[in-house]
Amino acid sequence: MGTLVCFHAHPDDESIATGGSMARAAAEGHRVVLIVATDGIHGEVPDDLAPGETLADRRRDETMRSAEVLGIRRVEFLDYHDSGMTGWDSNGHDDAFVNADVDAAAERVAAVLRDERADVFTIYDWHGGYGHPDHVQVHRVGRRAEELVADDLPGLLVAESTMNRDAMRRFAAAARDAGIDDVGPDDFDPDGPMDDGNPMGTPEAELTLGVDVRAYADVKRASMAAHRSQVSDSSFFLTMPPEVFTEVFGTEWFVEHGRDPGPRSGWFFDAS
Ligand SMILES: [Zn+2]
Repeated sequence: MGTLVCFHAHPDDESIATGGSMARAAAEGHRVVLIVATDGIHGEVPDDLAPGETLADRRRDETMRSAEVLGIRRVEFLDYHDSGMTGWDSNGHDDAFVNADVDAAAERVAAVLRDERADVFTIYDWHGGYGHPDHVQVHRVGRRAEELVADDLPGLLVAESTMNRDAMRRFAAAARDAGIDDVGPDDFDPDGPMDDGNPMGTPEAELTLGVDVRAYADVKRASMAAHRSQVSDSSFFLTMPPEVFTEVFGTEWFVEHGRDPGPRSGWFFDAS
């Protein structure tokens, strides 16, 4: 059995980006660990916060529920502040994750990797999939952590979680062909400029691994629903008919370090 450590920017990213892979690993008996960089305080504020309860408290609780659903055995919160989207005033805050010292943050992540004797470590692609400053910072910090543990964990597989831009384009076209005009949040176009001006995700030809998580689609959906306070972000996904949800979220895509580009279907824990 192995250990999978997934590094994410905000509460709920674990569910949307790698929820199926974490659920699959846990179901197969592997140890699954989640590292969450920020407190997600720029998320939606629910109107039912208890007296004294903060949004960060709520999001931490929701993350623990999501972790329970996915079978995650350990959750480490690094507790940096959410930096907000590109151009927000909060980008300039000293305690925003985007301004964190990369070496210091990476050392904290590396400590978890060493402690867990990690076999697989997931981060994000170079532009964080859609350019959010905290997601880009997960890439930077994750890459640095990879360097820091290179001697201790020589067999560590590092995989960058991303979206398959070509598959997203195909889904959007299929939805339009089916007469669905509203194909997602803000009439989603994977080739359009995202938060940092780049298109979404990674071209299919540059991917290395597609993980089949169709059997875990219900678990992934349940973990997304556990992030109840953020429903406006995920409601579009959660209202998809189950078969459409399974189609769209049934494969999780990665770029593995040390592998030639070209998407193959496989699994982190397959003998290679
Ligand atoms: Zn995020």
